[in-house]
Amino acid sequence: ATRDGGEPVRCYEPSMGERAARRLRLIRGFSAAVARRDVRVDFQPVVSLGERTVIGVEALARWDHPELGLLLPDEFVPVLEATGQIGELTSFVLGEALAAARRWLDRGMRLSVAVNVAVANLGNPGFPDEVASLLVAHRVPAELLTLELTESGVSSEREVALPVLRRLHGLGCRIAVDDFGTGQSSLAHLRRLPVDQVKIDKSFVLGMGTECGDVAVVRAIVEMGHTLGLQVVAEGVERAAVRAALAEMGCDVAQGYLVSRPLPAGCFDAWLDSLDVR
Ligand code: C2E
Ligand code: CA
Ligand code: CA
Ligand code: CA
Repeated sequence: ATRDGGEPVRCYEPSMGERAARRLRLIRGFSAAVARRDVRVDFQPVVSLGERTVIGVEALARWDHPELGLLLPDEFVPVLEATGQIGELTSFVLGEALAAARRWLDRGMRLSVAVNVAVANLGNPGFPDEVASLLVAHRVPAELLTLELTESGVSSEREVALPVLRRLHGLGCRIAVDDFGTGQSSLAHLRRLPVDQVKIDKSFVLGMGTECGDVAVVRAIVEMGHTLGLQVVAEGVERAAVRAALAEMGCDVAQGYLVSRPLPAGCFDAWLDSLDVR
């Protein structure tokens, strides 16, 4: 409600105030949290559905807040996007992911690392140079780095900086379209973009267990993705029956709790070692 010609009348709502206060804490505390290493990266394995081998990881940010507890990216990423601090998170996650890739290479394992990139990162013309120098610093071949962009990020021409995307692809990095199926874009639209991979949104994959409609949607994305020459990844694979159905459809790659939850680096390495001895 507004008074005539005046300021909007705001009703007092404690939860709104609390949420705003929490947001402000995140905004003000983020840089220090990165410096203190309260922000970390967990790794979730990605497996080939054909050979059933671990081919890479997705790097997922976590914020272990000393007072608020473990924060998940769904809370703090939108906040950092709104304030322009997302570049700092992306740089941190890229550094951690490439350092891990280097460690694995030194142990004779060629694992690809996937990093989530925000639309705002593509708006930064310096971003490809940053990626290039991080690849050099960590001595990781560009083809081992996948940059994941949400479907909504790549589908809005207005927002996507196509030249930046082309330069990233030109470095040899692989580009993935994340959360595919949730946005407005069609697979045909992707043909005009430098994209190598589609990740079927987990809502469809989770629904494969129960709703037959989702099986049809997933099958259609796998088939059309392959027609366009894209690698197709299913995320949110929680059940063996779903993994079997995906393999039967010819889906290339799976990611989900069935294989492993995202793990802190040390735990991920221990998990990898436990596969070797099996
Ligand atoms: P996403 O990129 O779609 O990442 C996959 C999310 O699904 C992760 O949630 C992961 O823990 C969860 N997941 C994996 N397997 C399963 C499964 O089998 N079942 C279910 N129910 N969930 C599964 P998480 O780590 O909470 O991340 C949420 C989102 O936050 C990510 O979704 C991504 O969009 C964003 N995010 C995470 N890390 C970063 C980052 O470093 N930068 C940016 N910009 N965004 C990030
Ligand atoms: Ca992702
Ligand atoms: Ca996703
Ligand atoms: Ca998501």
